[in-house]
Amino acid sequence: MLKPIELPYTRYLNPGGVPVSALPGWAADIPLLVQLYRQMQLTRLFDLKVVALQRTGRIGTYAPSLGQEAIGVAIGSLMRGEDVLVPYYRDTAAQLLRGVSMQEILQFWGGDERGNAYANPTAAEDFPLCVPIATQALHACGVASAFKIRGQARVAVTTCGDGATSKGDFLEALNLAGTWQLPVVFVVNNNQWAISVPRRLQCGAPTLAQKALGAGFAGEQVDGNDVLAVYDRLRVALEHARHGKGPVLIECLSYRLGDHTTADDATRYRPSEEVKQAWQEEPIKRLQTYLAAQGHWDEAREQALVTACQVQIQQALAAYEAAPAPAPQAAIDYVYKQWPQALAEQREWLLERAVRSQQAAGGVQHE
Ligand SMILES: [Mg+2]
Repeated sequence: MLKPIELPYTRYLNPGGVPVSALPGWAADIPLLVQLYRQMQLTRLFDLKVVALQRTGRIGTYAPSLGQEAIGVAIGSLMRGEDVLVPYYRDTAAQLLRGVSMQEILQFWGGDERGNAYANPTAAEDFPLCVPIATQALHACGVASAFKIRGQARVAVTTCGDGATSKGDFLEALNLAGTWQLPVVFVVNNNQWAISVPRRLQCGAPTLAQKALGAGFAGEQVDGNDVLAVYDRLRVALEHARHGKGPVLIECLSYRLGDHTTADDATRYRPSEEVKQAWQEEPIKRLQTYLAAQGHWDEAREQALVTACQVQIQQALAAYEAAPAPAPQAAIDYVYKQWPQALAEQREWLLERAVRSQQAAGGVQHE
């Protein structure tokens, strides 16, 4: 019989918002904790709005972050400007903190390539959301290799879901990162479901974090619904990688409270009792309870925060809806450096059609 591998597991606040051990020193910084709270709440309110927009046909498919806000907020809060985020499609929280605007996020999910041209210099070198499963882990190794070759103290952070850890791309990325001791941090958002495949059918190993051990570097688990735990361990991992000590894998144990994407209906395969139970452990209420118990949060502050978030979200939505439509050929423009013949013909056809419809409308052509 195999003996189970003991891996570190970190939790500071239990689901009721009560500390289960002494908090780390940095957690005495109340303005920081309040900031983490605000960002989680902003992410959730924005996320709910984006789902509503999809339901009314105003954007395309969207992957909600509901219940997993702590992970992205910790990532986005800790990465430095010079680091590079190589995200997957459930990283709204981290993107917002990297300075990707809400309008850009709406544009991306609305099928507009301009949403990938991040205006904020902090995010300018970050990668677009990766939709193919786990390929981004290899891209992150490429980025980290460049940092290492140049002798730069920068870190590539890449994220993925539990399902991605079963992919060859993920395991190859771990292998490469371990062999070359790359400055890369792998953050696994183990939200217990890979679309309709539950964690227990995904992988025979008791943890996903232990996959790092086979590649020769450290893996650990944290309570992904406890932002203090995610922040604390990610902080250590980033410094480890930044100082040439090699990669780290952090498995964040969380739960996908929403559908996989707006194209999914999780009620068809997931027991409602399980979801109800998971709501008892979600990250926002947990930190709110802790802050309130310490006298640092109350109903008035909550109302003011929600109002401020709603104003910010409405402004971004108005800007998104007021922006002129992208040129139709933009759907092809960024696919290849040089288009294959068939794609070049389609692009030409789109251009001609756009000109014709402009002329028919009597309008002025714009680029
Ligand atoms: Mg998942």
